Amino acid sequence: MAVPKKKVSPSRRGMRRSHEALTASAHHECPNCGELKRPHNVCASCGHYDGREVVAVAADKKAVVNV
Ligand SMILES: [Zn+2]
Repeated sequence: MAVPKKKVSPSRRGMRRSHEALTASAHHECPNCGELKRPHNVCASCGHYDGREVVAVAADKKAVVNV
């Protein structure tokens, strides 16, 4: 429900925003290349998953990190 901005006290606003903190996304090192990658996802750097290459990655994109 929409509430006029002046009706919300700084305390009330702060209590609402206390749950809005950002958290770091889950990540760990790729066992193949050592880059940080999301767990249970193919490594964006080398294309490996579960000890084998499942996605061919171009040579010029091997340094790109997309976590
Ligand atoms: Zn990798």
